[in-house]
Amino acid sequence: MSHPTVTPVAAPNLVADTICRTAELGLSIDNAADAGDVTHLYCHPVTVDLSCPGCGQGCRVRDHVERRLTDLPIAGHPSVLHVRVPRLVCGNGDCNVAIFRASIPQAADDRQSVTRRVTRWILQRMATDGMSVKACARGLGIGWKKTCTLALSACRHLTGGDPGRLDHVRVLGVDEHKWKHVRGDGTPGFVTVIVDLTPQVDGVGPARLLDMVPGRSADAFGDWLAARPKRFRDTVKTVTMDGYSGYAKAASEQVGKARQVMDPFHVVHLAAGKLDLCRQRVQNETLGHRGRKGDPLYGIRRLMLTRRSLVTPARAERLDEVLTAEEHVAVQLTWDFYQEIIAAYDEPVAGDAKLRMFKLIKRIRSGVPRGLGELATLGRTLWRKRTAILAYFDTGASNGPVEAINGRLEHLRGIALGFRNLEHYILRSLIHSGGLRGAVDAL
Ligand SMILES: [Zn+2]
Repeated sequence: MSHPTVTPVAAPNLVADTICRTAELGLSIDNAADAGDVTHLYCHPVTVDLSCPGCGQGCRVRDHVERRLTDLPIAGHPSVLHVRVPRLVCGNGDCNVAIFRASIPQAADDRQSVTRRVTRWILQRMATDGMSVKACARGLGIGWKKTCTLALSACRHLTGGDPGRLDHVRVLGVDEHKWKHVRGDGTPGFVTVIVDLTPQVDGVGPARLLDMVPGRSADAFGDWLAARPKRFRDTVKTVTMDGYSGYAKAASEQVGKARQVMDPFHVVHLAAGKLDLCRQRVQNETLGHRGRKGDPLYGIRRLMLTRRSLVTPARAERLDEVLTAEEHVAVQLTWDFYQEIIAAYDEPVAGDAKLRMFKLIKRIRSGVPRGLGELATLGRTLWRKRTAILAYFDTGASNGPVEAINGRLEHLRGIALGFRNLEHYILRSLIHSGGLRGAVDAL
């Protein structure tokens, strides 16, 4: 970058201030220079608060320092404000504050290197105009990473700062989501997805994505809850989650009074996993190799996971034929149980459904015949989690919330393709799925 050369400005700063709309920043332009692609504006605050942040007493101006702030592009070029900010000295001998730089709150946060309106601009370009992080960064003359971080923290601020956004959240959903495989060590990257299920449960609208935080741990969810206002934590009456004990721990600690619910999708998923394991074991015991094309059990592996009522008669016949073979009895019994779990969730009256589920869980808690190891393990797990599983039937929730979460996650998974950077992924997800558009437009 070539060195900026200051040239005298012909007209007084009124013209420059009008063009650059610096009044809304509380600044006035003294001079300008262009250095290649970047326009430099030299300015000073119109008014400065001279009171000490420690004791409130009036301070003395010691000297001036220059604060550089990236501002909105001017005529298609990035612009940088050089703000001459006074450094103040507190004369109060009892005060802890000695010397400090005056704030310019209208223009920028104390620690920020861009003006407030830049952050707003990025969010609006991304949410409203569908502009990419890259295009925003180029327009402002700042880095991609910085642009992304700025937008994400502004998004989070909107999430937390919009007082209405977290109101009335009674049913909170939390789920882990594998967003991509991190290259290198091959371990998957996880995010914790936090969804407001209240509108869905009330039947007034879709679930809303509230936030996504990196990682999958008790801390990831617990820290998020702890950072919300107490009023929010007091309003949450139900937390719907997968079977992961870390989330349960976090919910117990932070929203202890809320009822913990294990959502049907994860219960069914758990049972499906055991059914798969059982099929693979029996496959190996009977044929001595892993399932391959032409093997009877392998041929029905997907059919088995389908809800019984949705299987066509012709395929049901095939299913029965394989399952009723004597050597497949373990698979058949595990399959029966899996289907009974689904059927319990299908029961139209919640009270009946709950009783049916309780009896089911009780039945396989113990006393499962030998040779049904997978079912026995499942029985122990379901019994341990029975309170959360049965609580589902008291929440008045239909199957909607589950499908909402899954639909949402599928949607996010679609968005996730091609995202290498977690912050970027979260930012995009929040902008597109979090119902933030209205808030961004109102900025
Ligand atoms: Zn002071």
